[in-house]
Amino acid sequence: MSLIQTIEQSKDPLFSFEILPPLKGDTIESVYRNIDPLMEFKPAYINVTYHREEAVLKPAGNGLLRQKIIRKRPGTIGLCAAIQAKYKVETVPHLLCGGFTKEDTENALIELDFLGIHNVLALRGDSMKGQKHFLPEPEGNAFAVDLVRQISQLNKGVYLDEELENKHATRFCIGVAGYPEKHFEAPSLNIDIQNLKAKIDAGASYIVTQMFFDNSKYFAFVEKCRKAGITVPIIPGLKPLSTKRQLSIIPTMFHVDMPDELALEVLKCKDNQSVRQIGVEWAIQQSKELIEKGAPVIHFYSMGRSKNIEEIAGKVF
Ligand code: FAD
Repeated sequence: MSLIQTIEQSKDPLFSFEILPPLKGDTIESVYRNIDPLMEFKPAYINVTYHREEAVLKPAGNGLLRQKIIRKRPGTIGLCAAIQAKYKVETVPHLLCGGFTKEDTENALIELDFLGIHNVLALRGDSMKGQKHFLPEPEGNAFAVDLVRQISQLNKGVYLDEELENKHATRFCIGVAGYPEKHFEAPSLNIDIQNLKAKIDAGASYIVTQMFFDNSKYFAFVEKCRKAGITVPIIPGLKPLSTKRQLSIIPTMFHVDMPDELALEVLKCKDNQSVRQIGVEWAIQQSKELIEKGAPVIHFYSMGRSKNIEEIAGKVF
């Protein structure tokens, strides 16, 4: 079923989470071990991230280094298909503009359609490691809105090659990303929200937010979106803290603030076991307030660890 239908038809708030494909060389069993304990909370769907290629330096054998392009976590589409088959739960592969020509995108969408995967999260992606700015492929989509347009066209049976015969219209339900604390490249939150609205106008059915630790930022964002004419569900994304180092890593990587109260509590912790407990408690309180105020789904960023999500879901769902 399309994710938007699932949301619209549900009377209760839904539980969902995001996982990463395993590192190259690891097995799918490692992913299943993380999913298994979360199945008792009946996730409405499971997102699977996409990890683009990156440039790494390897010894060239002559004392010099040579650049090599590698992908550390391939397998998003295969993993989605395997999870759908094993757990009978909808999966949502993340699809990027970065590293894809429009032709690559069309082919990936055809593959997803054949596999019975009809939900996607359309994203631009970040710059490749080592590059200063995001650079689209010469024949690729430059912004997520362009990717949404391409998927919407395929949903109307419009392929890149107009001369094709027997054109099958796909039925992808498209989600997009939103940033309660502003996307780091956007000149202002209002301009970022205008760009977000363009993604909805292009055919996206719902928004998933970047992680946030202060619910008031989410509520203010939803209000601004509604004033800007965005009417689709806005799904809050939560990440429970689990290490002290995340206090600086998360703001650097994801451009979000930590509330003083949370940061001070974490700084007092003697070990990561105590940080984990605080992270779980914080996420439980966040989830309960979000549900009380009408959030349709609570979406968790598991980042490959399910134990803390299990504890939170046990108290919330
Ligand atoms: P866009 O919507 O294209 O926006 C990017 C920037 O461009 C914004 O500042 C926006 O305001 C601006 N902009 C948009 N349209 C225009 C326009 N027409 N003209 C000028 N400016 C414009 N990354 C991964 O690599 N893999 C993942 O699996 C992944 N999953 C994610 C899941 C979620 C829920 C979120 C929130 C992020 C995820 N990301 C992932 C990170 C994401 O790829 C980055 O945040 C990226 O920098 C922006 O992606 P976007 O889709 O929001 O881009």
